[in-house]
Amino acid sequence: MSESAIVEHIYPRLPVFLQNAACWYYGKKEARTRFGSIFEKRLLELMDSDRWSAAEIEAYQNEKIRQLIRHAYESVPYYRELWKSLKLSPEDIRCREDLPKLPVLTKENVRQNFDRLVSQKVSRRDLVFRHTSGTTGKALHFYATKPAIAFQWAVWWRHRLRFGIGPGAWHANFTGKRVVPVGQSTPPYWRWNRPLHQALVTMHHLTAGKISSVIEFLNSHPFEFYSGYPSIIHMLVLHASEAGLALHSPPRAVFTGAEKMLDFQRRDIQKFTGATLTDQYGCSEGCGNASHCPEFVYHEDFEFGVMEGVELQRANPAKSILCTGFANDAFPLIRYEVGDSGVWQDSAHACPCGRSSRALLRIEGREDDYVITPEGTRIMRFDYVFKDALNVKEVQVVQEQLGEITVRLVRRPGYGTSDEAEILREIHRWISPGLAVRFQYVEEIERQPNGKFRAVVSQLTSQPHAPVIEAARGECSLIAQRSSKNIQRKPSLNE
Ligand SMILES: [Zn+2]
Repeated sequence: MSESAIVEHIYPRLPVFLQNAACWYYGKKEARTRFGSIFEKRLLELMDSDRWSAAEIEAYQNEKIRQLIRHAYESVPYYRELWKSLKLSPEDIRCREDLPKLPVLTKENVRQNFDRLVSQKVSRRDLVFRHTSGTTGKALHFYATKPAIAFQWAVWWRHRLRFGIGPGAWHANFTGKRVVPVGQSTPPYWRWNRPLHQALVTMHHLTAGKISSVIEFLNSHPFEFYSGYPSIIHMLVLHASEAGLALHSPPRAVFTGAEKMLDFQRRDIQKFTGATLTDQYGCSEGCGNASHCPEFVYHEDFEFGVMEGVELQRANPAKSILCTGFANDAFPLIRYEVGDSGVWQDSAHACPCGRSSRALLRIEGREDDYVITPEGTRIMRFDYVFKDALNVKEVQVVQEQLGEITVRLVRRPGYGTSDEAEILREIHRWISPGLAVRFQYVEEIERQPNGKFRAVVSQLTSQPHAPVIEAARGECSLIAQRSSKNIQRKPSLNE
């Protein structure tokens, strides 16, 4: 029986203590991959290089780029043949600034050339099969190696160390994984993964009827930090606040990732936990990462890979993110188009934290979900519109046909017709005066099969080309101009 069949059919029928034992077994196996001697070595190196000067960083990255390009040319058939056809050789790529000479690698390129992207220098037995489960696109398969996985975990733990949390700290991980059977109606609504020092709390049980048990559990275990998707932690916060519950031993920090945190989520989580909220951006393909510094600026984890910004549109501050990873020599991803966009900090601006690595002011989410207005602009973000709508629990904007949108909304007690009128005014003011708006009141907003929350969903079958506008109050800024399909945000915090 395959591992997935065991997870699907056998695990849910086990008694709780055997489910905890299964989590322990999984954790033990994962701990060996993530936290061996390579992890420790990498983490020490990363602690040191975190304070390197710009010149040291540049020299390090250029050396890594030359090694990677040589390795790919010599041992990865896809790159060798493609670059030869373009009359490019490793000598043409000597530094970071030379990377744009190479073509972009799309997800579709990876799907179609999966076998030809495997390095012939790496033994088949060292390959670890991985896949991403996208929210809209098809799954993407690739290979990693154990040292590459340990490197990525070292990068993630350096982020935690910046906020005073070290390996071994006990934490609650809020997850979309079904480690507690969905149909379970009595506590415990959590399982222990002791080798990884975590309690797993599943989103399926963060409901009004079960929230007091979950909070009681969190209060009886002083976890040092919480981790997970912002939308799942937000679910906890919403139900607990509504039930008048409080955390008696709140975490010191909340680490989020894998989804863009929306303003209303940040506001509510901050208020409820009182903890420091910090985020990191990564892709599960393991080829690029950026983590908050204590100033809450995303710094490129330059030791792990290069993150390039490629112009989407003239005068548009947000650029499409391309990653070139240094860690995974088995399946190198070079100029890999992740499908997210980000706004880079001007390189002349020094971050007050003192780090010299490149910085991003913000990272936008997926580029493929947006609403098209009657004026022909595309709107990717609506959270500014709902920022002051305090009687709104959660909201999702869906477009099924041009000219109109449906606002799917979960109300808080106290929500009334004046709230609806205010939201409508805000949409007409900031998004489009001619957009027809339908309100649909729902009990909850469904998550994707992988647990992710989608703030904007487009169900238009064909989408005309139009500039993309970010709905930001009074400062609408252009963000993107293209329709990219099959874009997936990686479950980098899916522990
Ligand atoms: Zn900084």
